[in-house]
Amino acid sequence: MNKFVRSFLIAIAILFTVSFIFSFFTATSGPAPKNVSIGTLATDISAGKVKSITVNGSDLKVGLSDGSSAVSQKETETGVVETLRSLGVSSTSLAAVNITVENQSGFNYWMSIIVPPLLTILAMAVLFWLIFRQAKNGANQAFSFGKVNIRLFSSDKDKVTFKDVAGLKEAKEELTEVVDFLKHPQKFLEIGARIPRGVLLVGPPGTGKTLLARAVAGESNVPFFHISASEFVEMFVGVGASRVRDLFQTAKKAAPSIIFIDEIDAVGRERGSGLGGGHDEREQTLNQILVEMDGFDRDTNVIVVAATNRPDILDSALLRPGRFDRRVVLDAPDINDREEILKIHLKGKKLDKSVEPRTVAVRTPGFSGADLANLVNEAAILAARKNQKVVLQQDLLDSIEKVMLGPERRGRAISQKEKEVTAYHEAGHALVAAMLKDADPVHKVSIISRGIAGGYTLKLPLEEHRLRTRSQFLADLAVSFGGYIAEMTVFGDVTTGSSSDIRNATETAKEMVTNYGMSELGPRTFGRTEGMVFLGREISAEKDYSDEVGNKIDEAVNNFVKKTFDAAKGIIVKNKKALDKIAQVLMEKETLEKDDFYAIVKSFGLKPISIKI
Ligand code: ADP
Ligand code: MG
Ligand code: ZN
Repeated sequence: MNKFVRSFLIAIAILFTVSFIFSFFTATSGPAPKNVSIGTLATDISAGKVKSITVNGSDLKVGLSDGSSAVSQKETETGVVETLRSLGVSSTSLAAVNITVENQSGFNYWMSIIVPPLLTILAMAVLFWLIFRQAKNGANQAFSFGKVNIRLFSSDKDKVTFKDVAGLKEAKEELTEVVDFLKHPQKFLEIGARIPRGVLLVGPPGTGKTLLARAVAGESNVPFFHISASEFVEMFVGVGASRVRDLFQTAKKAAPSIIFIDEIDAVGRERGSGLGGGHDEREQTLNQILVEMDGFDRDTNVIVVAATNRPDILDSALLRPGRFDRRVVLDAPDINDREEILKIHLKGKKLDKSVEPRTVAVRTPGFSGADLANLVNEAAILAARKNQKVVLQQDLLDSIEKVMLGPERRGRAISQKEKEVTAYHEAGHALVAAMLKDADPVHKVSIISRGIAGGYTLKLPLEEHRLRTRSQFLADLAVSFGGYIAEMTVFGDVTTGSSSDIRNATETAKEMVTNYGMSELGPRTFGRTEGMVFLGREISAEKDYSDEVGNKIDEAVNNFVKKTFDAAKGIIVKNKKALDKIAQVLMEKETLEKDDFYAIVKSFGLKPISIKI
């Protein structure tokens, strides 16, 4: 808007300047002659005072006998003689006056006719030019919608290499090979190998797919065309396919080159899975991608890299050999990777000697690379806010919970009663966890509210594991009921604070029965979930069992819930004194670290047990 106002002012200024210059042409020099009315002129003629009259249109230039001159006007249509006659001037008086009629073809006359409209047109043109120039800058895409907005990574200043990507060893190896194909294609072609056309990077969000692709660009030194799939279908309907064509053409011209399509699930979703509108556009875009990839010759030196975190919903045509035939899986980082990632992101920050990335890595299982990058940044912000010169280890540790659960909300006023309920609730979780062999150890218990949680009990596995056992699930169930049972036992009432605990427990129990075959119903799954996705969530699970079996599933779920609930209740009722103590310390200190917590547990001489169902 500001820009528009500026253009407008510029246009006005130009207009003024031009009309100012123009006024020089028309202005007559010298003192202006006096203006007399036509009546006075008639009287003067009768008195013999007038020598000559020059007529120019309706203007009369009057030369007087005393040598001075004057101007006057008459009506345009009537002649000057007629006018004067009708005003009573006699023929003899008129005859004494030398009347000449000037031809209206002087330079000034024509200028006065041509210039004003010309000036207006010019001003309009300038105004339009300014507006268009602006509109072009703003919504450039409106004029080039068939062209794809490709970005070419080449600048050295934010160049990423494999060194900037921690872990992901297999993925890096796979991509190194791809780069090798591009650099030495003959080597592979001579032996009869087909160069892969597409590489699909698959992994949960934040594991570094985009980062890795950028690193490939940095390593390969070939043109690297980067686009997010959602940009194909951005503004107008029907441009997706033409953008794809444009992208592939550009890349082929620049071969050897790499095309990177980020978040390909935006267009690559299974075709014809009828939910939601706007399918045709996406399908056409996807079809065009398939067509373009098929159109590669055997020795077309272009490789397509794509990334997604939903490989399950991709159209199977995309995954066929000859298209994205290579899949590179990026796992969530393990403890060593996490340490490496932390080190990479701690580089360039001012650190205290106390900083130990390993400890932070130990406490952050399940964090993605993006979470860790975020954690380091939060720690730096925290340090700056406390006016420190360096980042301390404690800042990093404090940021773990912030990233995991949201910022602390100490400001929220809670009544003494609520504080007590929260303390007992968290103490319940923690006590049950401490008393079960298969539960993850408690790392921290707190009644400081964070995000939407009123308090929290942080449990972390001793070691990284990808598999979870039935016993661990049972322990999880019991621990999640710990809060509810503590409230129930101590206050004889329950609060809404347990709602998410209960929901999680129900989900877990259901999964155990229907997906993991961990119930007495045996090793089979129940319910088939189709790749039907709406707002990122599966909404329909097809029932592939009878109603009778459905009842049994409900029974099995209830059985898990009931048995683990009873186990947790047993623990809490039996160890009420320990529960009281933990809750009391929590109310005093608000937060209990691992060592302090286990010291309390030990002081009661408690022995962990396991649940048998
Ligand atoms: P994705 O595309 O898989 O969702 P990104 O590549 O955008 O994730 O990763 C987000 C950020 O997380 C990166 O910019 C980087 O700062 C950090 N990150 C993720 N994985 C790693 C890693 N392996 N090494 C270093 N940094 C990482
Ligand atoms: Mg990404
Ligand atoms: Zn709880």
